[in-house]
Amino acid sequence: MIGFELSEDQQKWRDKAKAFAENEIKPVSWKIDKGLTQEYPWPLIKKLNEQGLLSMGVPETYGGSGLDLLTTAIALEELAVADGGISFTSSLNSFNSLMIAGNDDQKAEFLPLVCDKDNPGLAVFALTEPNAGSDAGSITTTARADGQAYVLNGEKCFISNAGLASVYIVFATVDRAKGIKGITGFIVPKDAEGLTFGKIEDKMGFRSSRTASFNLEDVTIPESYRLGKEGDGFKIAMQELDMLRVLSCCAVGVGIGRAACEDAVRFFKEQGNIKAVMNQQAITFDLADMTAAVEAARLMVWKSCWKMDQGLPGTLDSSLTKFFAGDMAVEAAGKALRLLGHHAYTESYPIEKYVRDAKLLQIYEGTNQVARLVASRMILAG
Ligand SMILES: Cc1cc2nc3c(=O)[nH]c(=O)nc-3n(C[C@H](O)[C@H](O)[C@H](O)COP(=O)(O)OP(=O)(O)OC[C@H]3O[C@@H](n4cnc5c(N)ncnc54)[C@H](O)[C@@H]3O)c2cc1C
Repeated sequence: MIGFELSEDQQKWRDKAKAFAENEIKPVSWKIDKGLTQEYPWPLIKKLNEQGLLSMGVPETYGGSGLDLLTTAIALEELAVADGGISFTSSLNSFNSLMIAGNDDQKAEFLPLVCDKDNPGLAVFALTEPNAGSDAGSITTTARADGQAYVLNGEKCFISNAGLASVYIVFATVDRAKGIKGITGFIVPKDAEGLTFGKIEDKMGFRSSRTASFNLEDVTIPESYRLGKEGDGFKIAMQELDMLRVLSCCAVGVGIGRAACEDAVRFFKEQGNIKAVMNQQAITFDLADMTAAVEAARLMVWKSCWKMDQGLPGTLDSSLTKFFAGDMAVEAAGKALRLLGHHAYTESYPIEKYVRDAKLLQIYEGTNQVARLVASRMILAG
């Protein structure tokens, strides 16, 4: 049986996220993007946390909201209508590697830090290195066993929340000769000696989200901070990305695409002669195409989330949704920019921001080309 009616709980979270987006995020989103407010929007993130909208997937016992992927995606779409970067930050906190691979002790020690009501910790997922992006299996950060400890050395770049977060999930190799079978995940607390933060990126889009590099120089952590077994890291990272990309690329993409559609419709209602516009198929066909594409991407997001919430394999759906929703957001924002002309460069119709934000969705958490590669291999093999 297929139903599209949201449960009472899902409606509650959607309405809460929508109200927060309109009342709290929208009034400051443009200013944050333009660098007109404080450096990092902690006050906004703290308010998001107070509303239970920051660590949505984390079980309530650890301070989160205990939502499933589908309900989280519904809420993230609403947040992304107001600001993609803020919604992205929430997605990173909502489903992290600790929840997938952490043991009870690790969850009890670190998840409450991430969800702390007064001082939310934020989470970091650190795979990318200067010479290892799409080819994540070739990371060179090392973890050397030393008695009951590990010593980590290496550099991670383009890491979201680096420098802000209190908990770092770092992927390193315990034996480069083993390739991806040597990759292992580790929990590194922010105050670990030898962990230093580098350049904060001045980005094209998602400017409300922090992106920075960090170095690990003889960072020593106890063996008990290893995630899973030695060699499990690549599998853990891919499992996390299957879930995370459906939220942070796809649900966020649906939100950005929807914002572009809604602003375009609002523009024609507010500024134009709506009857004249209705007879202009060059305009109306674009609006119809944009709306159809947003709807299709949302259905793919919901289906992917539903499958993973049932414990079914999610890699194929997640990959298909990744490139479809990311490309959809880029196209919808581009079409809205064309439809609105110079008006699309303003705070009232911040389409140029959507164009810049949407481009990132084609890059992170596996580029859209890599998503196509994974999906096509699975289709042909299946
Ligand atoms: C704002 C931002 C935030 C990020 N946050 C994080 C984070 O929190 N944690 C983290 O670990 N990483 C993060 N990243 C890194 C991101 O995941 C990588 O940028 C991404 O994996 C792509 O790697 P790359 O940029 O090195 O591109 P490359 O791998 O160098 O790819 C360059 C181009 O080649 C194409 N390409 C590469 N290999 C193939 C192939 N086999 N077949 C077809 N085409 C291919 C790509 O599609 C792309 O077009 C972030 C990046 C950005 C921009």
